[in-house]
Amino acid sequence: MKDSIQKAYDPETFRREGRALVDFLADSLQSSLKEDHTVLEWREPDSQYDHWEKDWRERADDDPMDLFRDVFRYCVRLQERKYMGHQISPPAPVSALAGFLGDFMNNGMGVYEMGAPATAIERLVIQIVARQMGFSAEADGVLTSGGTLANLTALLAARSVKADEKVWTEGSKKQYALLVSEEAHYCVDRAVRIMGWGGAGIIKAPANDRFQMRTELLPELYRQARSDGKEVIAVVGSACSTATGSFDDLEAIADFCELHDLWFHIDGAHGAALAFSQQYRSVIKGLERADSVAMDFHKMLVTPSVTTALVFKDGRHSFQTFAQKAQYLFEEDSDREWYNLAKRTFECTKLMLSVRAYSILRTHGLSFLDDYVTTAVDLGIRFGEMIVENPEMELCTPPECNIVCFRYRPSGKENMELNALNERIRRQILEEGRFYIVKTQLRGIVWLRCTLTNPFTREEDLADLLSTIEKTGRKILAEGVPVRG
Ligand SMILES: *Cc1c(COP(=O)(O)O)cnc(C)c1O
Repeated sequence: MKDSIQKAYDPETFRREGRALVDFLADSLQSSLKEDHTVLEWREPDSQYDHWEKDWRERADDDPMDLFRDVFRYCVRLQERKYMGHQISPPAPVSALAGFLGDFMNNGMGVYEMGAPATAIERLVIQIVARQMGFSAEADGVLTSGGTLANLTALLAARSVKADEKVWTEGSKKQYALLVSEEAHYCVDRAVRIMGWGGAGIIKAPANDRFQMRTELLPELYRQARSDGKEVIAVVGSACSTATGSFDDLEAIADFCELHDLWFHIDGAHGAALAFSQQYRSVIKGLERADSVAMDFHKMLVTPSVTTALVFKDGRHSFQTFAQKAQYLFEEDSDREWYNLAKRTFECTKLMLSVRAYSILRTHGLSFLDDYVTTAVDLGIRFGEMIVENPEMELCTPPECNIVCFRYRPSGKENMELNALNERIRRQILEEGRFYIVKTQLRGIVWLRCTLTNPFTREEDLADLLSTIEKTGRKILAEGVPVRG
């Protein structure tokens, strides 16, 4: 045996390094729960690259802890209470360990025997999620690497079931289309184009002033699409929209889809997790009437990225993604092998996603997820109130979950100037690294955007953020540099 191979697989080295890494991460978690640290240490992309290029050139020792510490140092640290940026949550440590187990075992999931426990656990996780969403035992589905892929997978199934051509086997001559809110995530638009429907295949319903789909316009948009020669096969509801966290009226969309025999898909990447909250599940009323729902575990269910559940109300549809409708009509139940997951997902080799999700369910139970989701939404709503109470701040729309958009708005400033001002505030906050928040642009206005995913974030952290924004804003204005749009 060559020395290098012996060394790379040395069990004692692995034990020592593994313990050192877990100790390091546990210490960092303990200290971020106790005191304030910076959330990130900002470096411009080129400088970040130079750092790593130098690391490669000058690497001296073979202790991976130096590497691990350095990666940690330049990561955004979701475990800090002042992390309030993108929608991803700090993973429950047990699920990070489950991810590590999966990485070590490296079972590829492409066929049942190369992932037996994770395959069976995947079926179980889907059943648990489906029950939580209010679906019956008929429901089935798969886990995918992310909401983007789950949405595309669902829409392919929708086409297979609803289109009257055999598109999968013979292609199509028709112009298919779906209806979706203008506020939907861009991955829905991409899915439509990937399916070959082009720009004409996506019909965007305008949103109201709370950024929810104006469902009262669906009949007219549908009529118009048909008179333009389009075959509408689906409506996609957002639960919620990414930018503002606005939930479409799922009951209204369900009624409309039933009336016209359309597929109802819900992009619940962020908000379908409200199904786990006793207090807030009413926000997603009507979810159980959808034909398919995509839900990310890595956003509101504290699981490492990316882990997504795609649930079909009628489990048979879950076998339709890469198949022709006729096929499914003639197939015996026994031909639908639940354990051949690769037949139903894009991924051939796939991470052992189910183990990450199940580790949380099994260790901490549904009540923990309820507590987490409820805490996050409570924080979002409270932050909305604090913004309204602050005369220097403007709330974009009342938060419906843990996503909150707002801006610094000193009196007497025009929109163009306010846009540039808020851009600069957000940039300065990024560079300082005490907080991590993001921004979004809606209808020509730049908003600061927070997702409150760290359950340890306190009201005082939110107050601190608002006063930091005010101070930063005043300072920028006082510098007298012209703030232009
Ligand atoms: C985050 C998000 C997506 C994308 O999901 P990924 O898991 O990042 O692929 C899709 N839709 C909505 C509404 C989202 O919030």
